[in-house]
Amino acid sequence: MQEINNNNNKIKKDIKSMTLEEIIEDFISFGLKKYKAEQVFRWLANFACSFDEMTDLSKDLREFLNKKYKIISAKIIKKEISQDGTKKFAIIFEDGAIVESVLMQYKFGNSVCVSTQVGCKMRCKFCANSELNFSRNLSASEILTQVQIISKIENINISNITLMGIGEPFDNYENIIKFIKIATCQKGMNIGARRISVSTCGLADKIKKFADENLSVTLSVSLHSAKNDLRSDIMPINQAYDLEKLREACIYYNKKTNKRISFEYIMLNNLNDSKLDAELLAKFLKNMIFHVNLIPANKLKSGVLISSPIEKIHIFANWLMNLGINVTVRRTLGSDISASCGQLMAKTIGGKNFESNI
Ligand code: SAH
Repeated sequence: MQEINNNNNKIKKDIKSMTLEEIIEDFISFGLKKYKAEQVFRWLANFACSFDEMTDLSKDLREFLNKKYKIISAKIIKKEISQDGTKKFAIIFEDGAIVESVLMQYKFGNSVCVSTQVGCKMRCKFCANSELNFSRNLSASEILTQVQIISKIENINISNITLMGIGEPFDNYENIIKFIKIATCQKGMNIGARRISVSTCGLADKIKKFADENLSVTLSVSLHSAKNDLRSDIMPINQAYDLEKLREACIYYNKKTNKRISFEYIMLNNLNDSKLDAELLAKFLKNMIFHVNLIPANKLKSGVLISSPIEKIHIFANWLMNLGINVTVRRTLGSDISASCGQLMAKTIGGKNFESNI
């Protein structure tokens, strides 16, 4: 019996991965009214976990929908709180895949950093993700559910979303685009597109494609070096898309969207923090609309690369400012619970068990 149910579940469509337009199209093909689709979409945006909760639909319709669609479930299996208030959640999906998501609460609102893949293929030397085996992409509904489950358990509204957790968003391109369309839909969660940020390690072809989507989402590019040999060494993606290709794609993005790009630059001691590095960075950014974020490198257990000392980071920032570069030094949050950039899953793969169920 159990097995039959599971099989049925597999052929059911994942309704939370569908845009409102797709649900409307389906409903119309079933002879249902458009406003019914909007009702269901609103329920899903409010984190309804089953059709039975949708009490303003008739029982017959709820039963019909239950046969056609599934609503994916997820569970928080661990929550950690940093001394600075940052919260990290381990979330498990139906097939047992676990990802981590981070909640940062600021004066301006609540921001959730979500994972886009289970593991990562990119193998950046400084990032804990590189120690995780890639197992699969997350669906749009699984990315959405990370935001909703945190909003529900903390009883807060989420105003900002960053796609900067585990995984490379542009390596899961179709699903993240779906996710953005669903999360920003005014008839659903209605998160402002400008309040969503996507970060990529530099898949140049996808940066151009993203520019063509016309989504008004904020784009971050993890640059970390403006020298091809060093970048190829610490970020293997540079072997496929070198700095020339990346620069060309970024200029295309600027021109097409008129939006600036936020360049992330991790400060690595004696590797990418010299005056020449600052000059090469300025040269790379020539004729672009941008902002540079200098990030003290977060410690990894296995890491051989260490952060530049903070004094050196400020000297580097000054060199850039003198070259006319718009630059800030990023505050690091949540490092005591491995919730900072590049640290997600670092502890978990170190063998720590999940104990606390919520
Ligand atoms: N794959 C995407 C998003 C995930 S990583 C990307 O590469 O942009 C999110 C950010 O954390 C990236 O800017 C990444 O370069 C940065 N990061 C990775 N490891 C880090 C570390 N040890 N210290 C500081 N930032 C790190």
